[in-house]
Amino acid sequence: LTILGLESSCDDTGAAVVRQRDGEAPEILSSVVAGQTALHAPYGGVVPEIAARAHVEKLDHCVEQALAEAGLGLDAIDAVAVTAGPGLIGGVLSGVMCAKGIAAGTGLPLIGVNHLAGHALTPRLTDGLPFPYLMLLVSGGHCQFLIVRGSDDFTRLGGTIDDAPGEAFDKAAKLLGLPQPGGPAVEAEAAQGDARRFAFPRPLLDRPGCDFSFSGLKTALLRARDALVAEKGGLTRADRADLCAGFQAAVADVIAEKSRRALALYLAEAPAAPAFAVAGGVAANKAIRAVLETVSAASGARFLAPPLKLCTDNAAMIAWAGIERFRAGQRDGMDLSARPRWPLDSASPALIGSGK
Ligand code: ATP
Ligand code: FE
Repeated sequence: LTILGLESSCDDTGAAVVRQRDGEAPEILSSVVAGQTALHAPYGGVVPEIAARAHVEKLDHCVEQALAEAGLGLDAIDAVAVTAGPGLIGGVLSGVMCAKGIAAGTGLPLIGVNHLAGHALTPRLTDGLPFPYLMLLVSGGHCQFLIVRGSDDFTRLGGTIDDAPGEAFDKAAKLLGLPQPGGPAVEAEAAQGDARRFAFPRPLLDRPGCDFSFSGLKTALLRARDALVAEKGGLTRADRADLCAGFQAAVADVIAEKSRRALALYLAEAPAAPAFAVAGGVAANKAIRAVLETVSAASGARFLAPPLKLCTDNAAMIAWAGIERFRAGQRDGMDLSARPRWPLDSASPALIGSGK
């Protein structure tokens, strides 16, 4: 089974070919990602209209390149999978239209994939992880725990009630005059800093459950910065490093504690081979990865973090989710719609339009 996948839900245009022969491990034959960071840089964030136009311009080329790198023509492809949401509607529409064009022109089956399912199923592509496993999805746009029970069966245990951690890192970097994306910049500064100098809050730890809140942390950082500026007119390198270290430690602490709770809920179901996997760009953070490893080890769950290229937005995960859906007999028609919002534990695309 060989599937072409397309991704265009945010600011990365992707096309990939993934193949799985019966009874064998899947192979990523190609995975092309064209980023748009430079296009959006002057605006300090992703501009949806610019993103949608760039996707339209890049999609065809990405598909050609993905097929060329895989050494295959469309005649060797069994189905086209595409991110049908959630995401920026213009981008999602660009991908869905492109996939429909290919499907109409070739007669190939069309499979709509939930972008979050793509992230959540990645550990099965990379490591063949059996269901059910616990997944923490932490990126620039998302933060949630999921029990992944099947390719179309997810239970959400909790998530952020405001910002996603990546977004919080990006805003923190902005407040401190560091470059975007903020995560790597803040992490590099934090490595030089003293996390104990500033006391940042640990939001929502006093409340039960697995929900997160990160916007208060950003406000605390703003206050600490302004206090330093008022006191001595500016920030020294050490101030900046200490602020980053304190901020990152607070994020890591909160993620650690909520992960303990999510693991407890998941382990209460007595899974045969307990595993905890992480995906999303924030999984690149070494301090956060370290706490996740510690928490997993303490609970006896295997810890898994796919390679970074497969943790951030890419089309190989969409092609893979397409393979899983295809094997489960799921197909979509030409009426497949693009959904800006699409919670993972809601109806599958086949049911959309039927009232929900
Ligand atoms: P989504 O995938 O949810 O649509 P996205 O495309 O912004 O959103 P990713 O590409 O998965 O998300 O990840 C990018 C985010 O990860 C950015 O917010 C970035 O700051 C953050 N990030 C990247 N590296 C690090 C790091 N080392 N530490 C913390 N955050 C990081
Ligand atoms: Fe994503």
